[in-house]
Amino acid sequence: MSGDFEVRMRGPGAYALARQAVDQMEKHGVWPTALNFEIWTHYVADPDSALGREVARLLTSGEAFTDKVSDELAALYLPKVRLNEQIRDAGDQLSRELASVSLAIQSAQKSSEAYGQTLASASQSLDGQGDVSALRATVDNLASATRRVQRENKSLEKRLAESSAEVAKLREHLEQVRRDATTDGLTNLANRKSFDDELARACAEADASGETITLALIDIDHFKNFNDTWGHQTGDQVIRYVASVIGRVGAPPRFAARYGGEEFALIFPGESADMATATLEEIREEVSSRMLKRRSTNEDLGAITVSAGLAERRPGENGHSVMERADAALYASKRGGRNRVTNAEPVANAA
Ligand code: GH3
Ligand code: MG
Ligand code: MG
Repeated sequence: MSGDFEVRMRGPGAYALARQAVDQMEKHGVWPTALNFEIWTHYVADPDSALGREVARLLTSGEAFTDKVSDELAALYLPKVRLNEQIRDAGDQLSRELASVSLAIQSAQKSSEAYGQTLASASQSLDGQGDVSALRATVDNLASATRRVQRENKSLEKRLAESSAEVAKLREHLEQVRRDATTDGLTNLANRKSFDDELARACAEADASGETITLALIDIDHFKNFNDTWGHQTGDQVIRYVASVIGRVGAPPRFAARYGGEEFALIFPGESADMATATLEEIREEVSSRMLKRRSTNEDLGAITVSAGLAERRPGENGHSVMERADAALYASKRGGRNRVTNAEPVANAA
């Protein structure tokens, strides 16, 4: 889709599309920032894309197009250019490596063909030859052709060894890029970007299979106080601890991510809100029942609690909207006194 977009923005209708995007922004009172321009050109180019539909939804809902909304849209829907570039570079390097190996093999093939010819013509000139000096010349000839082929083979071997080392290095680099791009450094859970990708994938899969999905958000309670009392580093250890509890239940086919600072998100494929609630209650209880100790000094830190909100996806509902409902449910958990799990459905009904 983004490839197609890149082509269209360099094609015959490009300026018309750009003008249309600017007109639409003006009509809806949206500032023509670079990011908004990017979002709105995508929107007018393909109103049926996930981004297009989300923009349309925002417009009908009358929600203001603030910078925050634009940032969220960009993070969720705009192509991840930088990562793609890194992967393309590694791919290009790999292609060059393979091309050069293939050249080395061709050249080795040629010299072994030439060697074959040298042997054939030597055998011809040996036929019926009685002259010793001519015989010696033929043998010298053969010896030097043999040395040439040996040299060529050695250099091919060396080239192949270099090349497999280079390919192994590239593979490691790609794996590293992939890990960095998808993992949160503090907790080793998936990061926000990777959660968004996974959510879109899971929604598409659920649409195809008809299975249900439940999404959840978990947020540490009064964490600002905790940081203020014990310091940011100890706070980080607590985030890591909560992540480890969540990571254990968030193993595949479930998916757990660090969604923001002290906030986590979970996807429960094939699970109803009731099933997910039971799991979230387990997490909540486990976190609150553990007396934490500061590693460096062994001081008692007391226990911390988490609040959770969850929402079961309605058929065809987009992931972003399910997340919004889970977020509203999380907010209800906070308002209701924290250290609790709230399902979005009853919240929506009560409102
Ligand atoms: P609530 O119960 O309503 O969630 O209260 P809260 O204090 O947890 O919520 P608030 O959103 O006001 O503050 C979140 C705090 O989390 C702010 C910041 O001090 C802390 N925080 C966010 N990210 C990190 C992080 O990466 N490391 C540490 N140590 N603290 C973080
Ligand atoms: Mg928070
Ligand atoms: Mg919090």
